Amino acid sequence: MTSDHYLIPLLQALVRIPSPNPPGDTRAIAQFIADEMGAAGCAVSQVAPPAKPEAVSVIARVGQGDPVIMLHAHIDTVPIAHDEAGKWSVDPYAAVVKDGRLYGKGSVDDKAPLAAMMIALQHAAQHVERLRGTLVLVAAAEEEVGGRLGTRWMADAGLLPQCDFIVVGEQTHNHVATAHKGVMRATVRTTGKSVHATNPDRGVNAITAMARAVLALDEYHKSLQTRVHPMVGTPSCNVGVIQGGSTANAVPDACAVYLDRRMIPGEDPAEVQREMEAVIASVDASPAQISIGDFLVSNWFASTVETPLARTFMDCVRAGLPGDPGPIGYLPGSDAKHLTGVVRGEMVIFGPGSYEVAHAFDEYVDVAELHITAQILIDFVHRTLIQG
Ligand SMILES: [Zn+2]
Repeated sequence: MTSDHYLIPLLQALVRIPSPNPPGDTRAIAQFIADEMGAAGCAVSQVAPPAKPEAVSVIARVGQGDPVIMLHAHIDTVPIAHDEAGKWSVDPYAAVVKDGRLYGKGSVDDKAPLAAMMIALQHAAQHVERLRGTLVLVAAAEEEVGGRLGTRWMADAGLLPQCDFIVVGEQTHNHVATAHKGVMRATVRTTGKSVHATNPDRGVNAITAMARAVLALDEYHKSLQTRVHPMVGTPSCNVGVIQGGSTANAVPDACAVYLDRRMIPGEDPAEVQREMEAVIASVDASPAQISIGDFLVSNWFASTVETPLARTFMDCVRAGLPGDPGPIGYLPGSDAKHLTGVVRGEMVIFGPGSYEVAHAFDEYVDVAELHITAQILIDFVHRTLIQG
């Protein structure tokens, strides 16, 4: 079985429709996907949340009844950063193919898995008379900014069907990933009293107080290393930004640090928040005031691969890949965390390439690897949905 010769031209067309987020206007690429899927014979809808009507996602489906299998990829990309623009060796939106690689912004993240999934739906549509079950493509906006107005919104609005198996397309080198970490962001603030630096003991130094908090947070980070998840490793707590003071000749009255706390599957975000509050409560900041707040959660995801559909998917990956297909952990986050409410079976993350070349200049996907992605998806559709 070979994947379609249309795969690479299709990916080129997708890369040539820029969809950077911010601003996250996906109307043009959504229209293209909707036209392609409609022409193939799929039932197609374009949807957008009232809060951001230009963030259009596409839901295409072919077939009916059970099982319901969803292929999910996001259609927005990160924008081209200021310090990145001059580093590209090719036009980031030209979709140049060179030495077996297709280059472009969004080429691997996430338009390559999207193209392979579109080919899989076209394939199912060609065999619609023998199709037993439903294949759904979700081409989602807003993933790069957290998915709240994309996949989360679609799931909450009841636009997505309950699925027996979901493939979320991201960069796993065609291995099967079943877990990623979550993130909790928080801000710690200290408040003191500003006086002239000629007599600092009359003031209260907010930076000195924060220094104690930073050391306590480092101890907390170290204490987390005893918690180990078999696929994604340990939790962490990183102080990423510190802000405070305005001049050397005054005692600073305010300081803030911004934290990134990675959660492993199984950690309860509410419990993690309580832990961090306890760490800050234990800091002797007196006479400065100290507080922690602005908690922001992006949850972890974890699945097993034990249902018959998941086992079949593993078999298809094994047939297409040399070596061990996994399951493995995936380090960045994904829209999988928003889909747990619409999956009654299991969910995996799968796609060509590496997240290490995503979000950077000269992003590319290996053409041969992408063909394997498409072959695996088509093989899976055949084994699970197409009779005879
Ligand atoms: Zn992605």
